[in-house]
Amino acid sequence: MQRKEAARVCLGFLLTVLIMAGAIALLSVWLSRDSDADELQAGGEAHRVVVIDAGHGGADGGAVAHDGTLEKDINLEIARVLAALMRVSGYKVVMTRERDEMLGQDMTSGSAKMRDLKKRLEISSSYPEALTVSVHCNKFPQESCHGLQVYYGEGAQVAAEAVQNAFSLVDSSNRRKIKKADSSIYLLHRASAPSILVECGFLSNRAELEGLKTEEYRKALALAIFHGASEFYDIQ
Ligand SMILES: [Zn+2]
Repeated sequence: MQRKEAARVCLGFLLTVLIMAGAIALLSVWLSRDSDADELQAGGEAHRVVVIDAGHGGADGGAVAHDGTLEKDINLEIARVLAALMRVSGYKVVMTRERDEMLGQDMTSGSAKMRDLKKRLEISSSYPEALTVSVHCNKFPQESCHGLQVYYGEGAQVAAEAVQNAFSLVDSSNRRKIKKADSSIYLLHRASAPSILVECGFLSNRAELEGLKTEEYRKALALAIFHGASEFYDIQ
């Protein structure tokens, strides 16, 4: 797809979703006129919990781009926008990390990386009904590789498909398909909660890297994930 056309589609998508988010916010205000917060929670979507996991952090930078951009930072930025979108739509959001840190470092056994992964799994497992969305970025020796791809664990295929489909509104040229996670993806393979891992793009692809470094593109990615996650909850 031409860059201009991609930008137009991306902006159109952004606009549509922002209008929808605005409509939802207005509806919430309207609904709350005569009901207190508890009533809204009982009848609305406030009881729905989503776990958002920004991959890597602290000493674990994740993938590193040619210009030194670290995956952990991009992951956290996307996760923050996604969390804001979910909150404004009435979801309770649990973030595995909100800062630049490795998790679980107070545990006494295992490598720093394993302790970090165990802590993420522990948080995810505390919310067995919730969808866990792990946010990552990819890297590959072949620079041409690009695009978002969603991996899924038990019970989360629908969510993975919804996110993958929503991304086609951001980039209709993307041909990547969802994949069931194998044992190489610790969090998904061991998860007791429905979980997806979104590889938001390739740091090794220069054009995609430039996009991932912009707030606008990260918002479009977060919106696509938000759409997909909402669809998952809609059919529950
Ligand atoms: Zn990663």
